[in-house]
Amino acid sequence: MSSAAAALLTFGVVAALVGLHAWSNQRQLAAESIGSLRTAVAIEQEGVLDSASTTANQQAAANQALSLVEANETSSSDLSTIVTLTRNYQTAVTDEISAMVRGNTLAAAAINTTIGDPAFTILDPELAHVSEKDASSAASGVTAAFLASIGIVTGSGVVILLFALYARRRRTAIAAEDAASAAVASEARVTATREETFRLLFDENPQAMLVTRLPAVTTEGGNLQFLAVNSAAIAMYGYSRADFLALTLAEIRPREDREQLRSNLHAMRGGRTHFDGIRHSTKDGGVIDVEIDTRETIFDGEPAMIICSSDVTDRARLQRELEHQAFHDALTGLANRSLFEDRLDHAHQRLARGTGCYAVLMLDLDNFKTVNDGLGHAAGDALLLEVSRRLSTEIRAGDTAARLGGDEFAILLEDLADPAAAARAAAGIRERLRPPFAVAERFLTITATIGVATSSGGGAATDVVRNADAAMYVGKAHGKDRYEVFLEDMHATAMERLTLEQDLRAGIGRGELMLLYQPKVDALSGSMTGVEALVRWNHPLRGLVAPDEFIPIAEQSALINDIDAWVLATACRQAQAWATSTVGPVPVAVNVSGRNLVSCGLIDRVLGALKQTGLDPTLLELEITESAAVPQQGEALGLLQSIRDLGVRIAIDDFGTGYSVLSRLQGFPVDTVKIDLSFVRSIVAENASAPIVDAMIAMGLSLGLKIVAEGVETEVQRAYLVKRHCSELQGYLISRPITADEVVARFRPAPIGVAAH
Ligand code: C2E
Ligand code: CA
Ligand code: CA
Repeated sequence: MSSAAAALLTFGVVAALVGLHAWSNQRQLAAESIGSLRTAVAIEQEGVLDSASTTANQQAAANQALSLVEANETSSSDLSTIVTLTRNYQTAVTDEISAMVRGNTLAAAAINTTIGDPAFTILDPELAHVSEKDASSAASGVTAAFLASIGIVTGSGVVILLFALYARRRRTAIAAEDAASAAVASEARVTATREETFRLLFDENPQAMLVTRLPAVTTEGGNLQFLAVNSAAIAMYGYSRADFLALTLAEIRPREDREQLRSNLHAMRGGRTHFDGIRHSTKDGGVIDVEIDTRETIFDGEPAMIICSSDVTDRARLQRELEHQAFHDALTGLANRSLFEDRLDHAHQRLARGTGCYAVLMLDLDNFKTVNDGLGHAAGDALLLEVSRRLSTEIRAGDTAARLGGDEFAILLEDLADPAAAARAAAGIRERLRPPFAVAERFLTITATIGVATSSGGGAATDVVRNADAAMYVGKAHGKDRYEVFLEDMHATAMERLTLEQDLRAGIGRGELMLLYQPKVDALSGSMTGVEALVRWNHPLRGLVAPDEFIPIAEQSALINDIDAWVLATACRQAQAWATSTVGPVPVAVNVSGRNLVSCGLIDRVLGALKQTGLDPTLLELEITESAAVPQQGEALGLLQSIRDLGVRIAIDDFGTGYSVLSRLQGFPVDTVKIDLSFVRSIVAENASAPIVDAMIAMGLSLGLKIVAEGVETEVQRAYLVKRHCSELQGYLISRPITADEVVARFRPAPIGVAAH
């Protein structure tokens, strides 16, 4: 190749390369301007519905980018497609802007969805496509130049190498720009779907959402029409969308809660608010517990309130159950101590601002232990339940009946006109408890002792309870089955009772108990048939204390077991002493306290005492009160039978005052009934009849039992009883309780003869 030709070729190649470069530069420019247009349109699309002025600015920027494309794009077909599509899109945007300027956001959104979005969706990929096409032809122009130079000139290697390096750098730059514009475009696509996503978020949200107008002062009654609801709300409330749009917020509140809505709305005005403890009505007439979050929003261009509602009915029910459990007695459902104290505090505070008074009644069932131990805990529970029912129906709606534990109840009576009303209420409660209770397939009567205390709001609420308690103890000490109104000196009595208990415990240890014996005589012959051992407490300061003063106290603790054991052993020892002396055999009767005969180990105690003293069991009689003996079942009945099998006799004490009807005694393991002195007292004249006494004697005799009349004080009573064939007599007429020595001195010893007065 000549050097001229080579120079010419080189020149030609260089000229071709320069041409290729210019062409590739032009494509590159076109690609860049299309990329800018694409970005401008994407930004515009993102800003649509923001505000009319921002959108207009973005539209202007996009139009400017379009002019740049018109200046640079050389492919006429690509240019006309881009221009047409861009104008279509811009027309939609212009319509949206003018809708927004009119304030009609909804219409703008509608245009955006129906025209704007689709136009953008067509335009955006087209811009991407053309820009890519331009970029790649720019790059291929560079590549062509590169290839041509390799084929033609090896000598002009430096130029080519330089150009190749340049071309490489250009290609990298183009690729980077392309990536950037693709990122912008994809962001625009995300934005375009945002509107749709919001719509889906509302409609398809699992959280029930309701939109109403924003409450204004005038509509605080809750007269707020629903503007929109989502599917979850429709499912939760059961109303159709159309139902909802015809309803107001107040109408989905239960009628009695509508007043509350007013204050809720008042609290709500101004931003977000959370409410719980709200109840809403459903279409089927049910009521659900809901939790509500509200927040202000714009709907259809108007201020609105969006309500998110969650159904918490199950949780609320569980919570109510837990609260109920925490404040109520599990067995009876009455208030428990916590709730009672709470109500009491409340009543007390309320009274400090008002007039009138309130009362606390402390109620304790008498001899409940006997029922519980004798008939079993299930029967005890059934009795407590029935007592609770009667108490709750006896008190008024605002009053509180509580079970404080065991057989102890407390009643709070509020808004009393005067303290006397409390005493009347106590009398009413006793009356209400009087009819027999059907428990464990039998009828039981149970009495209660009630302590009454009132307050007009002075002092502390706990004082009232303490006073009622003291009155109740006084009631117990006065023989139970009564109500007692608190008097100031009762605390002293209560204190005294407490010291007495401590004293008694020590006294038993110091051997201060002693026995007196009250003789019983044959009704016809008047000869002594035996004695009843009666305990006394020989108190160092008080002197002889009668059992009525300390046995009830001992019965409330384990002390009674010590006393009964001591009495039994001592009486047996005395009887054995008589039997083995010149006095001869004198049957001894011992009182057994009316507690659980089985659990206090009665049989072991009897066996132990007989063994220890060597007493002939037929010389021992146990006196068991009717109320303790008759409800006995199964085990306890078997126990009485086995005591009797030893040869020990059983007497029913205080007969006529307890549970039983005479006929029930048939088949009962018993030898003797002792007619209670209250019936004997009803004999006032030898000729006037005492029908109950007559019936008791007749029935007892027909069952083959021995009949002992207690508390015979007059000659008239004696004559009457003798005439009715009563077996034996006991009472002051024959003898008061006396010491063992006096018994021997006054009643001729063996052989037992005629009573000596
Ligand atoms: P109770 O078993 O019914 O005993 C009869 C009570 O009536 C005795 O009172 C006796 O002194 C009294 N009394 C006897 N005759 C007459 C009378 O003609 N007129 C009047 N008004 N009363 C008469 P006491 O000794 O004070 O005993 C009272 C109650 O204390 C007894 O009633 C008994 O339930 C209980 N008790 C007495 N000693 C013991 C004992 O050792 N152990 C247990 N657990 N209780 C006892
Ligand atoms: Ca007795
Ligand atoms: Ca008696």
